Amino acid sequence: MTQHHNLIAGEWLAAPNYAPNINPSNLQDSLGDYAQADVAQLDMAVAAAQKAFPAWSTSGVQARADALDKIGTEILARREELGTLLSREEGKTRAEGIGEVARAGNIFKFFAGECLRLGGEVLPSVRPGIGVEITREPLGVIGLITPWNFPMAIPAWKVAPALAYGNCVVLKPADLVPGCAWALADIIHRSGIPAGVFNLVMGRGSVIGDALVNHPGIAAVSFTGSVGVGQRIAAACAINMKKVQLEMGGKNPQVVLDDADLGVAVELCVQSAFYSTGQRCTASSRLIVTDKIYPAFIDAMQKRMASIKVGDACAAGTDIGPVASLAQLEQDMSYVDIGQSEGATLLAGGDRLQRDTEGFYMAPALLVDSTPQMRINREEIFGPVASVIRVKDYDEALAVANDTPFGLSAGIATTSLKYATHFKRHSQAGMVMVNLPTAGVDYHVPFGGRKGSSYGSREQGTYAKEFFTVVKTAYTLA
Ligand code: NAP
Repeated sequence: MTQHHNLIAGEWLAAPNYAPNINPSNLQDSLGDYAQADVAQLDMAVAAAQKAFPAWSTSGVQARADALDKIGTEILARREELGTLLSREEGKTRAEGIGEVARAGNIFKFFAGECLRLGGEVLPSVRPGIGVEITREPLGVIGLITPWNFPMAIPAWKVAPALAYGNCVVLKPADLVPGCAWALADIIHRSGIPAGVFNLVMGRGSVIGDALVNHPGIAAVSFTGSVGVGQRIAAACAINMKKVQLEMGGKNPQVVLDDADLGVAVELCVQSAFYSTGQRCTASSRLIVTDKIYPAFIDAMQKRMASIKVGDACAAGTDIGPVASLAQLEQDMSYVDIGQSEGATLLAGGDRLQRDTEGFYMAPALLVDSTPQMRINREEIFGPVASVIRVKDYDEALAVANDTPFGLSAGIATTSLKYATHFKRHSQAGMVMVNLPTAGVDYHVPFGGRKGSSYGSREQGTYAKEFFTVVKTAYTLA
């Protein structure tokens, strides 16, 4: 079986251990063995990045723009092949995998342009004869820690701005999905960027992730993952006074008002609750439906859900692939039980499915008769499980939508300009969707949430520079 090593100081270095990368659609299918670094390898990666930083951070924007553009070009050219790899590894459908890879390629292209657009400000001083310049500089070596559910796009949306603004990088991808990160590292390595500027260290979060966060050579940490791990990382960064950015979970509401177009509402609820197997931080897991449309909505949802095809992620015609891991499948199914024990009614799905190959297949679950205080409506499940909360009107819908410790994405289905406008203003989420699924965002605009979903400045778009640069104010006597 092919061994995939870590990329450290421009070399593929063998690790002390390797772990198989198993296809969740077919447990007999392995994508190869992937390195499990030890802390000594992490130390080497940080040292290599520190060594590369002075030259890279002053290398000139054209060299950086060219490198990022080349990386983006190769990713886009290989989107079908890499999309298949992604689907085999993570379990989202091939169409979704190809879409994610294209997003990653476009992100590198976008930040290639951003290399040339990092402006500053020149202001008059309040003191005569003095000039004031405000510029942005790179931070140094940045630790990037990524989750398993977007194994190509999330590494891309952290690596691209980090490099664009002149930083060096150590990437620690999720242990479950090292294949996409390895493929990305291979492309970055062959783009010709200098040794040590980008390093890939695969291994367990509790070992490598923890050591990365606490490493004195790391200037800042950008993390995407669960709230619990994010809180620990924030605490470690605070004590060491490192800059930190956290993107975490969601419990995203999708409001459906009486005046909604029923077809639009059902389609966007199915899309955002169940597609990508519900494994998106922006997935809708709380469907908040007003009284009058409720019976028709439930009826239409049941019919639509009956047509969803769950199967091998790479097979033609599959709507929803498997859950990514056994642990996640068990968590999803346990929440179906928790919901019923709390008094909700399981209207559809929720059971494990058998297919031609052994995999982690689950029928999308819809729970009704749920209330805002139930655990299924407060805790992130992160699978194809959605619950419906019936409310009397828009005001109650908005209150329930905002009654959550999270605040990543929120959606409303309505034909009323008044309610759409009010919801955009009063939703306590970082991203708001009107007649669109809560999941599915552009790559050139800021991404992030509020409350327990995000901490620190926004990712993506031009706003990424807030995290990946530090401001300097210089005064000159004329
Ligand atoms: P996770 O368990 O928190 O893991 C995320 C990353 O942190 C992985 O690389 C993990 O490594 C690493 N890690 C684990 N323990 C660590 C430690 N003690 N120190 C440093 N790093 C550590 O999350 P996940 O299960 O991979 O991903 C699902 C979560 O991500 C969900 O909550 C989802 O909502 C969230 N998410 C948020 C966004 C967003 O932008 N808001 C986007 C996507 C996903 P191992 O894999 O080796 O454990």
